[in-house]
Amino acid sequence: MTLCHTDLVHAGREQLRELGVHALPVDLSTTYPLDGLESGTASLDRLVAGHGSADNPVYARLFNPTVDRWERAIAQVEGAEAAVAFSSGMAALTACLLAVSKRGKHIVAVRPVYGTSDHLLCSGLLGNEVSWVAADEVAAVIREDTALVMIETPANPTLQLVDIAAVVKQAGAVPVLVDSTFATPVLQQPLRHGASIVLHSATKFLGGHGDVIAGVIACSENLARDLRQVRVATGALLHPWAAYLLHRSLPTLKLRVERAQQVAGALAARLAADSRIAAVHYPGLPGQAGADILQRQMAGPGSLLAFEVHGGHAAAAQVLEALRLITPAVSLGSVDTLIQHPAGLTHRVVEADNRERFGIGGGLLRLSAGLEDPDLLWNDLDQALASVKAAARAA
Ligand SMILES: *Cc1c(COP(=O)(O)O)cnc(C)c1O
Repeated sequence: MTLCHTDLVHAGREQLRELGVHALPVDLSTTYPLDGLESGTASLDRLVAGHGSADNPVYARLFNPTVDRWERAIAQVEGAEAAVAFSSGMAALTACLLAVSKRGKHIVAVRPVYGTSDHLLCSGLLGNEVSWVAADEVAAVIREDTALVMIETPANPTLQLVDIAAVVKQAGAVPVLVDSTFATPVLQQPLRHGASIVLHSATKFLGGHGDVIAGVIACSENLARDLRQVRVATGALLHPWAAYLLHRSLPTLKLRVERAQQVAGALAARLAADSRIAAVHYPGLPGQAGADILQRQMAGPGSLLAFEVHGGHAAAAQVLEALRLITPAVSLGSVDTLIQHPAGLTHRVVEADNRERFGIGGGLLRLSAGLEDPDLLWNDLDQALASVKAAARAA
């Protein structure tokens, strides 16, 4: 089942007519006038316990109607009972690890994942113990105190696809979290494949214009209560302006994702046919690993691709420096095309051995296609590749 434009245009806007407005209202209040102490205390008790609504918001760390409206929209488009928004993708993952920690401290995870997610799990900052395994080895490491299985698909930065349903089957009663940032709900709805928790760095496609940092978890109402309790206690809130921008971006999500996907497909095909390129990783190219997973689990291969240049780190650095239209910058999922060097930037915090082992080498570049004309993007890539000095290419 795929999302239609109508779902995205109207999600979370049900109350607007009743409110007598057409655009999304932004409520910037940090505190709210109380009708009386008794009712104020009752509202506070509900919100501190993690309920998603109360008669009075009391204080903006407990509830904000603009953020709540966007959360309801995201729950709808992911097919979830609830969604809980945070100040960043990492704040969302942190809240999730804290919320499930009453089940135990053991986490099972499949590499590669986003560099800082890898780092958060490995650092021991939250007291977790992690078993890193291949996607078909999950069952073998599940323990009594396993609190969560975490996967990312498509994975950052190699675009590896993981079979969600197969991991869910192995996890048994343990909840499976899918970081679905690269796919967006337009291309993949993990809950429909049995996952319990969907995480988005909303900084990427959900924001879509490079001007908001945000994270969101879509899940059951039960887990949402635990997540809201963590959010109330730790304060990693999404600001209402950010929620407004995110909600404003939702109606165009499918248009943006599908256009960027077409652009990525065109670039991937040209890169794959180019002798200056050692390898291209794009789930939509013929002969790539995971074609069966793409078919079963996704509505399309998306707009991220990675490629390896001959000549490793030095050659990759020269390509980045020579680009004029494409912006050398981390992040992804924006209206414009971005390119970055995972080993030197997004995955720099991952141990060097693990980077090499999971395909994050010196010659790897990750490109997030935007909405521009593919021919102009190709011209830019072509001139940048041509600028790589023979000495670097041979290195
Ligand atoms: C960017 C990213 C994150 C982290 O999100 P922030 O909003 O930067 O905190 C997590 N997972 C993936 C796949 C990402 O690309």
